[in-house]
Amino acid sequence: DLNPEEPSEALREQYAELSDRVREARAAYYVHDQPVISDAEYDALYRELEEFEALHPELKANDSPTQEVGGEVGVAFSPVTHLEKMYSLEDVFSTDELVAWLERAQQQVEQLPGAPEVAWLSEVKIDGLAVNLLYRDGVLVRAATRGDGTTGEDITHNVATIKTIPQRLTGEDFPEEVEVRGEVFISSKDFRALNETMVEEGRAPFANPRNAAAGSLRQKDPEVTARRPLSMFVHGIGYVRGVELTTQSEAYDVLKGWGLPVSPYSRVLASVPEVLEFIAEFGDRRHSLLHEIDGIVVKVDDRRTQFRLGYTSRVPRWAVAYKYPPEEVNTKLLDILVNV
Ligand code: NAD
Repeated sequence: DLNPEEPSEALREQYAELSDRVREARAAYYVHDQPVISDAEYDALYRELEEFEALHPELKANDSPTQEVGGEVGVAFSPVTHLEKMYSLEDVFSTDELVAWLERAQQQVEQLPGAPEVAWLSEVKIDGLAVNLLYRDGVLVRAATRGDGTTGEDITHNVATIKTIPQRLTGEDFPEEVEVRGEVFISSKDFRALNETMVEEGRAPFANPRNAAAGSLRQKDPEVTARRPLSMFVHGIGYVRGVELTTQSEAYDVLKGWGLPVSPYSRVLASVPEVLEFIAEFGDRRHSLLHEIDGIVVKVDDRRTQFRLGYTSRVPRWAVAYKYPPEEVNTKLLDILVNV
């Protein structure tokens, strides 16, 4: 007798197939730096998996890609355990979804004791590679990729070649130990020059700056990394001992004071309409910025409130990523690429 509560074999297979497609795309992207589908296609596939799980919660696996931070740890590098976990971000794909997210978060904050006011720290979402820098007594002792969030890959020697990342923090008030998180990227200008050189040397150009940055950073030979024009902007703090930081925006000023590279594109905003204006403004400006962006990140600025909202197994409950709609590929650009 068929139990109507019992998911059918066909559904199980459909679920396994969908999960595998997400896992394969992730391995290609994170481990091999060779994406097999576009980011927009990946986002659609991931959303399909989330929706499938919402419809069939009884099938949802604990190790589903929707429950884990995206990356994997490749075998080419030594594993590094982060002192504090690194997370991904919850995505929204329309301004309606974003407004709903912000209003929900605001309500949650208002229910906390003391009903703190929310200020939204709005930033561009840098299309690069997440890196964790560990400074002890002001000295850079280790750098690692995000990996699965708990364990990343040791890329200390490669990061040492990036000129904008200080080997030593400046000033005197830096903490005993601090994990600084940020994004390594290649600027749009440097990317164009890098690809021109690749073509001149008869080599295949990189598909996009993110891909070039990831491939350059995950090199076995740091001398290859040293020749690539990598930059970094820091946008977060993990484990920290020996300093009090009230808000995230204040933390950026402090990080800047220690000599770390901080993005020029963040702003503290008091209301949801101002966040929407920020999104429209950077939507217009996105191709004239220093680097590529794939969206906007909105964070609760107050660190104590962040702490009280906490995290799921995959994302913070105090931040959200708005993704701009995928752009039509310019046909003229396509012609150029085809002719390379
Ligand atoms: P994510 O890239 O959407 O967001 C999380 C990351 O954003 C963080 O790890 C952080 O390093 C980064 N980030 C950039 N700017 C930031 C800022 N200002 N503040 C905070 N964080 C900032 O999530 P994810 O889980 O790393 O990856 C999913 C995304 O990666 C997909 O949406 C897709 O774009 C891409 N992806 C593509 C493929 C593919 O096959 N093409 C496969 C896997 C992932």
